[in-house]
Amino acid sequence: MADLKPVEAALAALLEGVCPLPAERLPCERAAGRILAEAVAATMDVPPFDNSAMDGYALHHGDAGNWLAVSQRIAAGAAGEPLKRGNCARIFTGGAIPPGADCVVMQERCEAEGGRVHVPEGIPAGDNIRARGRDVSAGRELLPVGQPLEAAALGHLAGQGITEVSVRRRPRVALLSTGDEIIDPGQPLGPGQIYNSNRPMLRRLLERFGAEVTRATAIPDAAEGTRLALAAAAREADVVITTGGVSVGEEDHVKAAVEALGQLDLWRLAIRPGKPLALGRLAAGHREARFVGLPGNPVSSFVGAWLFLRPLMGALLAAPSLAELPRLTARADFATRTGPRAHYMRVRLAFGAEGIRAYAFRDQNSGVLSSCIDADALAVIPAETRIEAGESIECLWLGSG
Ligand code: AMP
Ligand code: MG
Repeated sequence: MADLKPVEAALAALLEGVCPLPAERLPCERAAGRILAEAVAATMDVPPFDNSAMDGYALHHGDAGNWLAVSQRIAAGAAGEPLKRGNCARIFTGGAIPPGADCVVMQERCEAEGGRVHVPEGIPAGDNIRARGRDVSAGRELLPVGQPLEAAALGHLAGQGITEVSVRRRPRVALLSTGDEIIDPGQPLGPGQIYNSNRPMLRRLLERFGAEVTRATAIPDAAEGTRLALAAAAREADVVITTGGVSVGEEDHVKAAVEALGQLDLWRLAIRPGKPLALGRLAAGHREARFVGLPGNPVSSFVGAWLFLRPLMGALLAAPSLAELPRLTARADFATRTGPRAHYMRVRLAFGAEGIRAYAFRDQNSGVLSSCIDADALAVIPAETRIEAGESIECLWLGSG
């Protein structure tokens, strides 16, 4: 087994020379989930003015401890008048602090009578005021290049009044399924046939990794058909992915087809599941598409997608958040031992007071896709290792998308 290669070596080969895709401008409403191609600078302070964090009374802190006349009312959305000493302003959450006031006292602490209010002593300046620029100050970087535009980032852009952003074009992926036994759901299953599980699974994963599947077709287990399908895919896609057909069986035509169109390296990885992996490039006119051949076995292609497709999309999108899966240490709720290959076990995580526990799906066979359904992480059990229940193990967290 000395010729089995580590995941890291194949990943480095895959990512070598990958350049980020071009940028495109999009309205913010359509930019959710995309990756910023340029940093965004703040052009204004947020909040844009000092405002009240409470419903209560705004005053000068030197007037605390006294009965004060309520000289004005400032609701959110209104601007107040300058406040004279000895007076206070009725104010509501989000209301602009009037000039002359420097603190707000919550209404529950005040006693109101007629047009006057008694304010307790010892209110410091700044109390209950959300200061201008506390969240964002004008001129600073609002969001860095490579930022995924998820919920709070989109809110932050809107907070600046920004309507358009520059994001990376999404990687275009062609997803080709090999195997004469594979048919699409919706058709009756003949003898010896199985439905295509990989296509919808990988499509969903690729979407989570920021890509767009622009072509999803089946290719027959035949030399000519495989070559034509790969050539057509390479003309339009940034990445061409096949499933199945990368072992060295007689019906495996992917290797020859990729070699005819470009260049191919077949890897035998020291991992379980997912030992065979094909990486290469396909030339099509002036352009070149990256090629990734995942094993046909759905569990293997699931694991391969997380280990290889995710960082590949990360490199195309120049998104550090997609570069490496977050690692965490958990306590194994199971015992296991490995042979010459590292085992990437599908585990569910439970976050408790004593830390994180990892529960392995009972059947870790590479043909059992149920093991992936509730997998929060891949527990990486190194080669030639014995793990007892309760021992610490390293996990790659899948929850971050
Ligand atoms: P292969 O890598 O072509 O030798 O395929 C390995 C195993 O995965 C075989 O049992 C195939 O039938 C199965 N397989 C290949 N592609 C798919 C697919 N798209 N969906 C479900 N099973 C598949
Ligand atoms: Mg096959």
